[in-house]
Amino acid sequence: MNTHKVDAIIVGAGGAGLMAALYASKGGATVAVVSKLYPTRSHTGAAQGGIGAALGNKIGDDPNPDKPIYHAYDTVKGSDYLADQNAAKVLAEEAVDAVLELEHMGLPFDRTLEGKISQRRFGGHTQNFGEKLVYRACHAADRTGHMILQTLYQQCIKAGVRFYDEYHVVDVLINNGTCVGVVAIDLNSGEFHTFHGKATLFASGGWGRCWQVTSNAHSMTGDGAAAVFRRGIPMQDMEFFQFHPTGIFKLGILITEGVRGEGGILVNRHGERFMEKYAPHVKDLASRDVVSRAIYNEVKAGNGIQGRDYVYLDIRPETVNRYFAEAGESKRIDREYVEKKLPDILDFCRTYLGVDPVVEPMPVQPTAHYAMGGIPTNVNAEVVIDANWTVMPGMYAAGETACVSVHGANRLGTNSLVDLVVFGRRGGKNIAEFVKSAHFTDLPADADKEIKAEFERIRACKGKTRAYTLRDRMQKLMNDNVGVYRTAETMQAAVEGLRELRETFIKDLHVDDRGKRFNTDVMEAWELENLLDLAEVTAVSALNRRESRGAHSREDFPKRDDANLLVHTLAYREAPSLYGVAAPEYKLNMDKKVDLSLAADDPRFAPKERVY
Ligand SMILES: Cc1cc2nc3c(=O)[nH]c(=O)nc-3n(C[C@H](O)[C@H](O)[C@H](O)COP(=O)(O)OP(=O)(O)OC[C@H]3O[C@@H](n4cnc5c(N)ncnc54)[C@H](O)[C@@H]3O)c2cc1C
Repeated sequence: MNTHKVDAIIVGAGGAGLMAALYASKGGATVAVVSKLYPTRSHTGAAQGGIGAALGNKIGDDPNPDKPIYHAYDTVKGSDYLADQNAAKVLAEEAVDAVLELEHMGLPFDRTLEGKISQRRFGGHTQNFGEKLVYRACHAADRTGHMILQTLYQQCIKAGVRFYDEYHVVDVLINNGTCVGVVAIDLNSGEFHTFHGKATLFASGGWGRCWQVTSNAHSMTGDGAAAVFRRGIPMQDMEFFQFHPTGIFKLGILITEGVRGEGGILVNRHGERFMEKYAPHVKDLASRDVVSRAIYNEVKAGNGIQGRDYVYLDIRPETVNRYFAEAGESKRIDREYVEKKLPDILDFCRTYLGVDPVVEPMPVQPTAHYAMGGIPTNVNAEVVIDANWTVMPGMYAAGETACVSVHGANRLGTNSLVDLVVFGRRGGKNIAEFVKSAHFTDLPADADKEIKAEFERIRACKGKTRAYTLRDRMQKLMNDNVGVYRTAETMQAAVEGLRELRETFIKDLHVDDRGKRFNTDVMEAWELENLLDLAEVTAVSALNRRESRGAHSREDFPKRDDANLLVHTLAYREAPSLYGVAAPEYKLNMDKKVDLSLAADDPRFAPKERVY
């Protein structure tokens, strides 16, 4: 058996994983980063618009007095009051220092004329508790995530962090109620490796690939979340999955909210700026759940472009300047400005659509984007396994796969990158402390036996259905039934459809490649199994929450129910077997109350109707 013994194992090399690895390593721990992708290919590198921090850098004629408390307020309001307020406070306060730290590490942010970090507007970012829009999104053109990833990777190399690139984690090891490591496959050789550690942090990203139209990379299959879920760790708030309003029509590729932050507007087939109706105050810069629903409603009312299911996003300087003038703002933009601030999205539209956004509007529709739910943690990135905040010793999580919860029912733009660096850093620091006094708990007997058997089963499958066929069916099922709007009927149909797909996966899967090296055929089948598990717990959790809140909009329960449902969902899988055809059973616990500590001191943080 190939066994590696280290203090700390970090699963994933995106922003969260790298930040955790850096801090665990700086704190003296021996660290192994295990990543299925080469680190700089992680999805963090695709993040475009920015990272939010209340720096309050003066821009033009806007005095811009931003403060962390405004950032916390916007985060809580954006979350439709499901965020834990203690966590939102930590996020907003530590964001400032974290962004400055990135700057000092060498991240090439755009600059203001005075040489400070340049900030742009973003959805739901306001000053003085919703009074008016604020400039909070720090950015490096529309390549902010790319720059974060490169910067952190360099720092990790400098700190001597050990990387196991293209090692795919397939199982988590728990012994005596303690997390003791993971099993991974070295993709190059097909060999199984066991990583034995005192602490394991999951930073394995989201699962947008459950849906048909998504902004997420092919690799976003939620492997880490699925692995721990099967081993008895609950998934928190899975019903909340964000649809970003502006994906490229049909392709789902993201067009950053930074476009609207720079003044871009959404229009329907009549040329109407429809967000004026839905969010009279901040219009196109309302929170994402609000804008996605508005697009959906416009399309439903026959106002989509050519009567179809998309609208236009317009960043043409003449349009934007007209609205700036109408609003009495002095800012004006031109072609050169758009080229400089949004180079990548111009490139995507020109390449994939043959549309030049400087002269034509972009066709957009909502695209599955971000998992608000995931592995429950406290603010120290320790994984908690019940409503009493009981910690699973040795297990940590950070980034998109985790649920702290700072995003509640809907995440604000730029808050994921903040989440990665703030809670990744906290995770790394806490692990460094923990491993100083913790001892190694033994590996369970035959640590890799079950997972090896499952892989042998998949490799030998000789049925008739290819994994990609099942994946397409799952993605369509989720888009149609667990999308922007849901009802009991659609969600029930999703659960039943997913169970049929699971059965076909077990009984009729066909795998062509029976080899060991870089067997992407088997790995894709395995990733599909993870997606099926996460899709099902999403639908089951959604069915169970009888209200509309944030990204979870039920046509049959259109109101928010604060009296009964200011609580997190904890979904446990009580399957007859880890893998296999038998439908898993779920236990849904709704006892974990939302933290309202800010509201206790300041009534402005108390749940109320959201007006944008
Ligand atoms: C197109 C796009 C644009 C975005 N723009 C913004 C933005 O402007 N601002 C913002 O705040 N947020 C943005 N987001 C969201 C944000 O980028 C992500 O939520 C965030 O980067 C996730 O980071 P992470 O570190 O949690 O995981 P990721 O960056 O997704 O990395 C996951 C890591 O886990 C590894 N991994 C996964 N499975 C396994 C496995 N089985 N074994 C081993 N390793 C594994 C991968 O190799 C990878 O290294 C955007 C997202 C997308 C898709």
